[in-house]
Amino acid sequence: MDSIKELDAAYLAHTYARFPVVLTGGKGALLTGEDGKEYIDMGSGIGVNAFGACDEVWQQAVSAQAAKLQHASNLYYTEPCVRLAAALCQRTGLKEVFFSNSGAEANECAIKVARKYGAEKLGPKHFTILTLKNSFHGRTLATLAATGQDTFHQDFLPLTPGFLSVEAGDLSGAEQIVSSVPCCAVLLETVQGEGGVNVLDPAFVRGLAALAWEKGLLFMVDEVQTGNGRTGKLFSYMHYGLSPDVVTTAKGLGGGLPLGATLLGGRAAGILGPGSHGSTFGGNPVCCAGALTVVQRLTDEFLAQVAAKGEWARSQLEGAPGVKSVTGLGLMLGVETERDPGEVIAGCQARGVLPLRAKNKVRLLPPLNIPTDLLEQAIEILKEECAR
Ligand SMILES: *Cc1c(COP(=O)(O)O)cnc(C)c1O
Repeated sequence: MDSIKELDAAYLAHTYARFPVVLTGGKGALLTGEDGKEYIDMGSGIGVNAFGACDEVWQQAVSAQAAKLQHASNLYYTEPCVRLAAALCQRTGLKEVFFSNSGAEANECAIKVARKYGAEKLGPKHFTILTLKNSFHGRTLATLAATGQDTFHQDFLPLTPGFLSVEAGDLSGAEQIVSSVPCCAVLLETVQGEGGVNVLDPAFVRGLAALAWEKGLLFMVDEVQTGNGRTGKLFSYMHYGLSPDVVTTAKGLGGGLPLGATLLGGRAAGILGPGSHGSTFGGNPVCCAGALTVVQRLTDEFLAQVAAKGEWARSQLEGAPGVKSVTGLGLMLGVETERDPGEVIAGCQARGVLPLRAKNKVRLLPPLNIPTDLLEQAIEILKEECAR
């Protein structure tokens, strides 16, 4: 039989530069390769497997729901999605949830909410959304336009109109735009994940929130990567003392199944009415049953452990030989290395550790419940590879 790698090369669109590893299974923070080799998972499938591979609680909820009813469509009521929406609203104080299937879709919904809000509350020309340079909001045409990185735009022009971006930290630039262009919203990640794990300055973020408030614009936070406990709080905006109108999330929410959510509160509550948005799969009962087990286990006590593990990892890496800097929050860390990050990652892979990359950094997004001994082993190997 042809190898998996050969079949992939023959039959899949060539959109991914894959790491040279075929994964066949896993348990918790350990993954198994085709050849039986074990790996410590420092990526969680890009921050998706929040409780690791085949977590028992999650797996039981998902299997039980799959055996009951796998899909109903949004023409009918189902229990898992309403329980999950209630849990998300009760934990955040936001008022309502729209479920979709990915981060990009969660942001598409936010963009539609912002445009409808602008048209109804501010005036017909108020459709522009202010975003940040170096952001990442997804690969669909509107979220691509929201993404403030030219490399993603190349070959896909013309961009969807209605997006302007400023550098993170440039509050006066932001003020200038919202004062001269009719806007409807501000959209940002508090920690720019794909942009290189850059934690935004709290003074800038609060300044932007105040500006949005003053101008009557929606303040929207993209928590697709930072949400669901990743940074040591349920959502990263909670580190900043913000009250966003819109919060989008996906990745870790479903614990490994596709699920996006757009949480609406403040000035965004009630903007979406019947027929204004929809999704065939959104709020799928199997995905939501699994997600409910994820959200229910993100207790304050558990989140404190996420924060502590992140602090420990950071303390080990900061100032270590070959490490230039460490950025991030909780278990979302970016390690700037003296060696080429691709070489460091390849070295780690050869020694049974699977980190990720974000721009010029090695990025760590381990399962939130990674056992301490595995985290220690992985950090030790990463440190050795940085020092080589
Ligand atoms: C991954 C990511 C997205 C896109 O999510 P998809 O599920 O791949 O569509 C959007 N925003 C942020 C901040 C992300 O990290």
